[in-house]
Amino acid sequence: MHLPRRAFLRTSGAALLTLSTPAFALEKVMPAAGAARSGVRSLKFENIHTGEKLAADYFLNGAYQPQAMQAINHVLRDYRTGDVHTMDPKLMDLLFDMHGQLETDAAFQVISGYRSSQTNGMLHERSSGVASKSLHMQGMAIDIRVPGRSLVNVHQTALKMGRGGVGMYPTSNFVHVDVGRVRQWSGT
Ligand SMILES: [Zn+2]
Repeated sequence: MHLPRRAFLRTSGAALLTLSTPAFALEKVMPAAGAARSGVRSLKFENIHTGEKLAADYFLNGAYQPQAMQAINHVLRDYRTGDVHTMDPKLMDLLFDMHGQLETDAAFQVISGYRSSQTNGMLHERSSGVASKSLHMQGMAIDIRVPGRSLVNVHQTALKMGRGGVGMYPTSNFVHVDVGRVRQWSGT
């Protein structure tokens, strides 16, 4: 990939890394706990299906960082089919704000990010809890849990923010959040 040198320098700090394992690598690239650098939006994910971890400064210097957003799209891909889809930046901002509200430094554990129509169709067949026109298919939804924070806490926080759909799945132990219209429901 050819990038003008200046552009490369500007973005090289953005997509920090995707790694399949060690926790120390994740820590290394993140700012010290609690040090919210002004204007920088960062997210940390751990995909429970692939084991991949990502820490990314996805917004800085007043702009979404393409390289970091691509890394996010990759870690949130449909792990069943390998399909990668653009995730909605509004969803990333929702997660960033939620992370702040939860006052945690833990990575979001990802149960489901993007779903291809093939995967969503299969899940819909199996479970009444999966909508046939799920916002997961548009990169607008994610199913998460947060280590060190109760599901109830995560759920309440998402509801309080009131920025989209919120689904509670206590048996499966995750909360669905999306940037569609504001609504709420419970699953299993
Ligand atoms: Zn969901």
